[in-house]
Amino acid sequence: MIIREFDPWKSRLCTCPPKYSLNPYTGCDHRCVYCYITGYITNAFHCRPKSDLLTSLKRELKKIDSHKIISMANSSDPYPQLERKMELTRKVVLLFARENFMFHIVTKSDLVTRDIDVLKDAACAVAITITTMDEVLARRLEPGAPPPEKRVEALRRLKESGIPVSVRIDPIIPGVTAPEEVLQQVPFVDHVTASTLKLRPDAIRRMMAAVPEVMATLKPLYTERIGNALYLPERVRFHTLNSLEKACRENNVSFGTCREGLNSGSSCDGSHLIRDR
Ligand code: SF4
Repeated sequence: MIIREFDPWKSRLCTCPPKYSLNPYTGCDHRCVYCYITGYITNAFHCRPKSDLLTSLKRELKKIDSHKIISMANSSDPYPQLERKMELTRKVVLLFARENFMFHIVTKSDLVTRDIDVLKDAACAVAITITTMDEVLARRLEPGAPPPEKRVEALRRLKESGIPVSVRIDPIIPGVTAPEEVLQQVPFVDHVTASTLKLRPDAIRRMMAAVPEVMATLKPLYTERIGNALYLPERVRFHTLNSLEKACRENNVSFGTCREGLNSGSSCDGSHLIRDR
């Protein structure tokens, strides 16, 4: 199946509403050092298109629950560099819009603005991930992704086009990234989703090589193990997210977290922004 249930592992910390997940591509060329798809996708940073995507999709759309949102994407970015020439995600978005399916785009790329002509009339919302406003740090953490300023500008253009937008401040790396600075740049968004960094073994290895000074202070703080991932202790996660939640409240922006249940919107992920068809 190309369209799958989101979170098939049923992580006990995940607070997302039931939704589908669709990845037009296998792997992702943004190559974020903290990414964990390398734990379950072979050659994960070599991005390639899903074969027969549109044919399979048309067949599967006839069988799925059309009241459920389709989230793009969760094990890759729907706008990798390859999308500029392949236009695979654009074709998917055109199909969803034509067939009136509800969908949620989650991306780190300003390329999503290319599709404003379709998105503005579709039952959709767009989340753009911005982890830091520090360009140098962003390049070290997310070497293949567009710089943060371009993502801010993309959010602005989407919002001005009448498309519901949220910013994902995810992952927050305590003592390293400054989530409030991100919020200051995008006070116009409809929703903020935030999450603290979780560490899986291969991400730890990559981060040790790419940002050793960060890992030297960070690693000892990661004492809570759930499955094969390490998390900050609950009180540290709450403390980190509480101050961002307060800043969102002061800006009248709804707020959601991935695991801690600090949700002032009706969804953690911003999918509540999607307009009824
Ligand atoms: S954009 Fe997402 S899927 Fe792609 S490398 Fe970064 S964290 Fe992984």
